[in-house]
Amino acid sequence: MRRAYEEAGGRIAWSTPVTGVDPWPDGVRVRVAGGGETRAAHVIAADGPRSAVRRSLGTPLTGTTSGTDFVVVDVADAARPLPPERVFHYRHPGVGGRNVLLVPFRGGWRVDLQCADEKEAADFADDTAGWVAGVLPGHEVTWVSRYRFHQRVAERFVDDHHRVLLAGEAAHLFPPFGARGMNSGIVDAVAAVDAVADGDVGSYDRDRRAAAWQNCRAAGAACAHLLARTRADRLRQRGAALLAPFWEPAGRWLDSAPFGPPLRKVRY
Ligand SMILES: Cc1cc2nc3c(=O)[nH]c(=O)nc-3n(C[C@H](O)[C@H](O)[C@H](O)COP(=O)(O)OP(=O)(O)OC[C@H]3O[C@@H](n4cnc5c(N)ncnc54)[C@H](O)[C@@H]3O)c2cc1C
Repeated sequence: MRRAYEEAGGRIAWSTPVTGVDPWPDGVRVRVAGGGETRAAHVIAADGPRSAVRRSLGTPLTGTTSGTDFVVVDVADAARPLPPERVFHYRHPGVGGRNVLLVPFRGGWRVDLQCADEKEAADFADDTAGWVAGVLPGHEVTWVSRYRFHQRVAERFVDDHHRVLLAGEAAHLFPPFGARGMNSGIVDAVAAVDAVADGDVGSYDRDRRAAAWQNCRAAGAACAHLLARTRADRLRQRGAALLAPFWEPAGRWLDSAPFGPPLRKVRY
C-alpha cells in the first residue's frame, strides 16, 4: 500500500503529529506539532481513537462503555498446531469459571479472558503463565494487553463545510468481538475517497454513520449474549448449557452470538 501510495505521488510526513484542523468553505488548514501547517482541499482523518482532528472539530463520541474488563493475550502456535477454529468457552474451569474466547490467526491464537473488573484484569494481565496454560497448554505468550468494550460513534463524521471526514476509530469504537473495527475502518477509507471524488461528502456522513451504528448494535448484541447480564439471560444461558449435550439447537444458540465465523464446520 505504501509503495502504491508513493508511486501515485503521495508523500508521507513521518513523526509529524497533527494538532488540529481549521476547515473553511474552500479547504482546510492542518496544524502540526512544532507550529507548522499545511493546506488541503479535504482531510480524511484516520488518527485513531484519541483523534486530535475529531477533538479540534469539537465533535463528541456518543454511546456507552462497558464496566467489564478483558485481558487479551497472543500466544504462538504449539509445536503441533491445533485446528484453526474460533471457540467460545462459557465458564472455563481452567480460569476459575470465567468466559474465554479463543481466536486463531496465522502462527498463533488470541485469547480473550473476561474479568469482573479492572483490578481482576490487572492481576490476570500481570501473571499470564498460570491461567493461559489452563486454557491452551504448551503455548508461549507473546503479547498481553487489557481493554474495555466501547460502543461509541462520533456525532458527525464530517465538519460543517464538508472538508474534513473522520474515518476508522477516529469516528467509531466497537467491541473487538465480530472483527468490525479495522474492517469497517477500511470501508470508511474507501467511502471517504469516493465521497470526495464524487463531491458528495454529505452522503459519507449519512451512510458511514448509519453503518457504524449498525456495527455497534451487532457487536453489542454479541456482548449481551455472552455476558448474560439480566437474570432472564442467565437462566436462558444455563438452560441451554444443560440441554446442549442432548439437543443440538441449544448448543447452536449458545454459539450464535455475532462474534465472528467459527472458521470451520462445527458439530455442536
Ligand atoms: C484486542 C483487539 C482485537 C481486535 N481484533 C480485530 C479484528 O480481528 N478485526 C478487526 O477488523 N478489528 C479488530 N480490532 C480493532 C482494530 O484493531 C482497530 O479498529 C483498528 O486498528 C483501528 O484502525 P485506525 O487506523 O482507525 O486507528 P489506529 O490503528 O489507532 O491508527 C491511528 C494512526 O494514527 C496515528 N496518529 C494518532 N494521532 C495522530 C496525530 N495527532 N497525528 C498524526 N498521526 C496520528 C497513530 O500513530 C496511528 O498510526 C481489534 C482491537 C482490539 C483491541
